[in-house]
Amino acid sequence: MENCIFCKIANGEIPSNTLYEDDDFRVILDIEPATKGHALILPKKHFANLYEIDDERASKVLLVAKQMATKMQKALNCDGLNVVQNNGVAAGQTVFHFHMHLVPRYEQDDAGLDMPNKKAADYDLKEVAAQIIG
Ligand code: 5GP
Ligand code: ZN
Repeated sequence: MENCIFCKIANGEIPSNTLYEDDDFRVILDIEPATKGHALILPKKHFANLYEIDDERASKVLLVAKQMATKMQKALNCDGLNVVQNNGVAAGQTVFHFHMHLVPRYEQDDAGLDMPNKKAADYDLKEVAAQIIG
């Protein structure tokens, strides 16, 4: 993909703070970190989002996430870690090359990744389940 910043970073055309690299992925530090150690897992091949990534890389990405999260937890001594993956503008995606965020969390940090739950849905959950299952 021409003019895709994450294609260029993932393939080493633009330098980055790389934490890990293999044939399929590069893991880098986010340039505007939500917390200390905020990292991004980028596939080297371009996929816009989770709907498009191929099955092989979709499976592998969680293994990379697990290995990196374990390493980061030990190295940074963080109190928690969020795995976040945004798809579409409504979900907060700003770079349209699949990426998975690894966000170390610290007691009293101000990352604000909370997802406020509604006390009760104002629609029928069974109907939603049926709609999704199809
Ligand atoms: P999104 O909102 O699409 O899920 O996340 C995009 C992330 O990429 C943001 O956290 C943003 O700070 C990060 N980002 C955008 N451009 C660059 C860049 O050129 N280098 C790095 N390392 N991170 C970037
Ligand atoms: Zn790309």
